[in-house]
Amino acid sequence: MYSMPLQHKLLILTDLDGTLLDYFTYSINQALESLELLQELDVPVVVVSSKTRAEIEYMLNISNLSGIFASENGSAVFIAHDLGLKFIQTSYVSGSFSVIQLGQSYARIIDTIRQAKVYCGADIRGFADMSIKEVARITGLDIEAAERAKQREFSEPVIFNGSREQLIKFQDFLKESGLSWLMGGRFLHVLGQCDKGLAAQIIINLFTLNFPSTPWKTVGLGDGPNDIPLLQTVDVPVLVARPDNSYTELPTELNSRVIKAPGIGPEGWNNAILQLLRKGVLL
Ligand SMILES: [Mg+2]
Repeated sequence: MYSMPLQHKLLILTDLDGTLLDYFTYSINQALESLELLQELDVPVVVVSSKTRAEIEYMLNISNLSGIFASENGSAVFIAHDLGLKFIQTSYVSGSFSVIQLGQSYARIIDTIRQAKVYCGADIRGFADMSIKEVARITGLDIEAAERAKQREFSEPVIFNGSREQLIKFQDFLKESGLSWLMGGRFLHVLGQCDKGLAAQIIINLFTLNFPSTPWKTVGLGDGPNDIPLLQTVDVPVLVARPDNSYTELPTELNSRVIKAPGIGPEGWNNAILQLLRKGVLL
């Protein structure tokens, strides 16, 4: 444990798809330079993603990311046992993790979507309706990755084909049922009343509780509307460019303090982190 007053220590919270990973290829390669530097500096990189636990665990095995992460758009926070951290929230044990569930069960989500579909009359297809092959085709993931993406616990990505009126009816039904929805990079995600901001706050509190004398400076990186609550929760919000080189529109307050990373997805991620470290802004 640190006992002396320290300069700021970085804590990085990041989206994956379209941010740390390339939107089309899901490659992390363009961010490797800064990731290696962060590893040398012992800076935790925490994933806060719409991806499933199975997908994120796979990422943890192939790159140096923290054993703490949030899955399915903030539906749950996972804390690896071997980190030996204490936390105050109610949790359950699953494999080598403690799980703090913030969202609703997948069975409840699927059941509500089925009812909402009848209510609004639109053509709605979720991962539960698709084969692994179809998920692979639509997402551009390979078969093994699509299989991990289908291992859902708390949320459902759907493709919505319908009118604006039907969409409003669909969303109203979800709201009445105690669920929420948000737009991701490719899908409309149906989930419990949770978001990346709440999950990020729990993770930040976890670091504050376990390392009380460390003045954490939090950096959040994202690319889409579902990252706005995450960006609003951190000290230094960073937005990377989308594949067409544009940036997601942000609320005015956030827009005035966000750093727009030069570069699309992982290239922007890399550039932003390197620039911040070089400027000494964060150390
Ligand atoms: Mg994204």
